[in-house]
Amino acid sequence: MTSGAPKKPKGPPGNRPGKKPAPRTGWRGLFGGPSFFGNLATTILIFLLLMSGYSLVMNTIKPSNEIPLSTVAADVALGKVSSISVSGDSLEVVYADKTEKTSRKDPSTGLPETLATYGVTPAELAKVAITIQGQSGFEFWLLTLGPILIPILFIAFLFWFLSRQVKGAGMQAFTFGQSKARITDPADVNQRVTFADVAGAREAKEELLEIVDFLKSPKKFLDIGARIPKGIILMGAPGTGKTLLARAVAGEAGVPFFSISGSEFVEMFVGVGASRVRDLFQMAKKAAPAIIFVDEIDAVGRVRGTGVGGGNDEREQTLNQILVEMDGFEPTEKVVVMAATNRPDVLDPALLRPGRFDRRVTIDLPDRRDREDILKIHARAKPLGPDVALSVIAERTPGFSGAELYSLMNEAAILAARENRKEVTQYDLIRSIEKVMLGPERKSHLLSKKEKELTAYHEAGHALVSSILPNADPVHKISIISRGRAAGYTLKLPFEDRKMQSKKQFLDDIAATLGGYVAEEMLFDDVTTGPSNDLMVITALAREMVTRYGMSDVLGPIAFGERQLGNEPYSEQVAAQIDAEVARIISDAKARAKSVLIEHRSALDAIAKELVEKETIERADFEKLLIANGITPKKQDEEGIVIAPLIDSATGSDVI
Ligand code: ADP
Ligand code: MG
Ligand code: ZN
Repeated sequence: MTSGAPKKPKGPPGNRPGKKPAPRTGWRGLFGGPSFFGNLATTILIFLLLMSGYSLVMNTIKPSNEIPLSTVAADVALGKVSSISVSGDSLEVVYADKTEKTSRKDPSTGLPETLATYGVTPAELAKVAITIQGQSGFEFWLLTLGPILIPILFIAFLFWFLSRQVKGAGMQAFTFGQSKARITDPADVNQRVTFADVAGAREAKEELLEIVDFLKSPKKFLDIGARIPKGIILMGAPGTGKTLLARAVAGEAGVPFFSISGSEFVEMFVGVGASRVRDLFQMAKKAAPAIIFVDEIDAVGRVRGTGVGGGNDEREQTLNQILVEMDGFEPTEKVVVMAATNRPDVLDPALLRPGRFDRRVTIDLPDRRDREDILKIHARAKPLGPDVALSVIAERTPGFSGAELYSLMNEAAILAARENRKEVTQYDLIRSIEKVMLGPERKSHLLSKKEKELTAYHEAGHALVSSILPNADPVHKISIISRGRAAGYTLKLPFEDRKMQSKKQFLDDIAATLGGYVAEEMLFDDVTTGPSNDLMVITALAREMVTRYGMSDVLGPIAFGERQLGNEPYSEQVAAQIDAEVARIISDAKARAKSVLIEHRSALDAIAKELVEKETIERADFEKLLIANGITPKKQDEEGIVIAPLIDSATGSDVI
């Protein structure tokens, strides 16, 4: 939840957009790789096995001691044959000396006629016992149909197999290029989303109402010559409800909603993305009035020609096709294209030009009132206990997105269900805040005795400095139980949803954040990688104080821009001054933190000892500890409290 903290790029590095992904299904590995040819080889191998199996069966049916029919006739004439059994066109000849031979005759003529043509007289034939057998059913079908059926079955199998393969790779050989858009039918009541399902986002809804009106009664607008924007782009942090809002527009207007995600285009082969786009627009035009929604458009709409990752033709072609389609259709077409992104900064400027996505709607993180409304929406199907006050939960969750509030509500319901209760209580909700904010508790992440002590002193340092310095926030909870990727954390309680902060607050915050580092240094005469996140946060904060907020006495009230190569709004000399000021702010704060901890050493020891023992200290117990050590706890306003976490990363390099 620490804002502005850099995030590591997620996902394996090999999975960059533009690389053709390996097929997801299929018998990969049999030939050492998931390649198409590997699978073809598998298929051919299976075919060969089938064929050899077939001929094996045929061979057991056909013993090899076959003699020509003329020999049989001669032997019958000589009286050497005792019996012949006829089965279809094959003959089994048993001699007087019990030897058995086989032979074949013309299937259309009978055995007596055949032998007669070889000069066997009826008298000679009469000495031979002739039996005629019907072929066994299985044998008959195998013999007659086998040679035809097996290749047909094989070809059918091959087609099925290949189509499965190709589907896995993100396209279908037989529906090549056809749009894979998901379509939401306005008549489908279960899937229908309306503005009532979206809390907050008032400005965004107002803007979109115009689009809803147009889609509902386009004639009114077209008759008067009004030009309705073709492209609307929704911008906002992840989880703020962009996708939800786009669906709600379709739901409100009662029009079909064709949605596709930008990331789906990325996994396609060259040329497929563009033809998908063409199909998608064609389908939408047929269904007009309709909405086309391209989610996560930044995946295809990044600035072109930067050559990052060797350039990506497929992505560019897809993007170009989107632009061509948007340029090509008229307002009379009654199709509105919506898109969503949480990276508006990387979008290609061509997308935002007039006539394309020229209408921009920003969705902010919800404020306190919106958070309460969002919680109410997601509490609809959940029975709440009498003690639940969603307003308190809303107050304690600044910075939470709609998606996070949704999962908070869900976590609380899971907690209640696990304890076999029929109602969600306030305590379930409070516990879920921490879970959503920091990740689940990791009881299995065991600290060694030394690590435990160190973490305890670190957190105690944060908590104590925070409690003593007048402009720092009071402490709500301290814990050394790992949660998510945090090894320990201290939750502070600023009094209200702060939109503005003062210089004094910043300075005390920096000192409290350094409290952990200073405590480690004091106690163990050493520092660990643990506070790396703390240091990153305070360095960024101190730099902002100097360069953005004019809070440095030396440099004065000037907002300095970012200094980059080729864009140098201030001199080298000023840059050095800024660095010096940042360093001074931090070293001053460190000195203050240190003097607090030295002065209240007994309190520090007491808090750390209790933490090692109990692992978590709640506010009431923490205040008792302070009082026992002669410190008056800060007054805390029970209503209107907000949790500001100080999170200590477990590895020192990962940042929550
Ligand atoms: P985004 O597309 O901006 O990342 P989503 O639209 O996918 O976010 O939101 C994810 C989920 O969070 C939604 O399905 C919904 O349950 C919840 N949510 C987000 N914003 C809101 C909101 N303003 N009102 C109600 N629910 C919301
Ligand atoms: Mg989304
Ligand atoms: Zn810390």
